[in-house]
Amino acid sequence: MTDKVITQVSPWFDDREQALVTECLESGWITEGPKSAEFTERLNDMIGVPYGVFAPNGTLALVLGLLALEVGPGDEVLVPDVTFIGSANAVLMTGATPVFVEVTGDNFQIDLSEADGLVTDRTKAIMPVHMFGMCGDMDGVRRFAKRHDLLIIEDAAQAIGVHYDGVHAGAMGDVGCFSFFADKTITTGEGGYVTCRDEAVYDRLRLLRNQGRFDRGAYVHPAIGYNFRITDMQAAIGLAQLEKMPEILARKAAHLARYETNFADLPDVYLLKQQPKSGYVPFRLFLFSPAGEALLNYVNENGVQSRPFFYPLHRQPCFASLRETQNLDDSRFPNSIRAHEHGQCLPIHPALSESDIDRVSEVVRSYFER
Ligand SMILES: *Cc1c(COP(=O)(O)O)cnc(C)c1O
Repeated sequence: MTDKVITQVSPWFDDREQALVTECLESGWITEGPKSAEFTERLNDMIGVPYGVFAPNGTLALVLGLLALEVGPGDEVLVPDVTFIGSANAVLMTGATPVFVEVTGDNFQIDLSEADGLVTDRTKAIMPVHMFGMCGDMDGVRRFAKRHDLLIIEDAAQAIGVHYDGVHAGAMGDVGCFSFFADKTITTGEGGYVTCRDEAVYDRLRLLRNQGRFDRGAYVHPAIGYNFRITDMQAAIGLAQLEKMPEILARKAAHLARYETNFADLPDVYLLKQQPKSGYVPFRLFLFSPAGEALLNYVNENGVQSRPFFYPLHRQPCFASLRETQNLDDSRFPNSIRAHEHGQCLPIHPALSESDIDRVSEVVRSYFER
């Protein structure tokens, strides 16, 4: 008999999500209402910001945040070369241009020494992406932004529960953008959130997300806006997920520690190096090995779903037109390419047990000990 496949991700629900969604359905209030108000309050409390609004997903949270900061056509935004493509597509959706920046060699976050040479008079913002559930050098990002007079848009899609120097991700920039997609640390199926600390930015966020008006049901629209709303059923699921978030974080931390122990004596396996001052809520277990794709395929053939690392943005076929105006030669992005060629994502979700972690570890070990 073969064991069942250990999946890359799995939602972690129980009766509580069902109960809160049922409350919502029975109340008849299914658009943003009491559950959304409560979820907003709890999120702002936890993140430590005065203001936040929902968006339909993390990509549109980034779009909303960028628009509220008045980023648009003619502007350039510095984006790390290693991130989910949604970070860059959000910039393009506003009419601005993403400028790809090489990442650091140890934890693959935006490399500020590389960014320096890419600033032009069109550069309006920098988008640090808290990749893998860890912040990069945010002190450096803030100094960099100040020196070049740039706005900071934090892509915190993978970073709920992550603190840097005691401050929650998403509370350090001009706006912070979160995702509640099914594979994130807490989920509402689809969903996003934008935080800010400035009241004028908050007002613009509210106008942009609700057809250019502050009040529902008003038909005189002081501004041009769109519909970036969610449903109260999603907020109900989010509230249940927030309740169990301490347990989710604890389980992920325990899984990480177990992986670290299990892999400690494997010479060709490296885990992410943690940025000083940053917490770490592993979004996936990021493993690097010169064995690269051969190891990835072996793991997949042996009952564990492993996934490759993001494909470097500078190589994306869909961004061919950006290569006409930016120097996107591979020679500029050795770390990004190495991350892609050596990196893979192993499962570390809360539904896994200790013995699941051991089984994944054994599969990796057996590749090297064949
Ligand atoms: C998931 C993710 C996004 C996009 O969020 P969606 O909700 O899928 O639109 C953006 N950036 C990063 C780093 C992500 O991991």
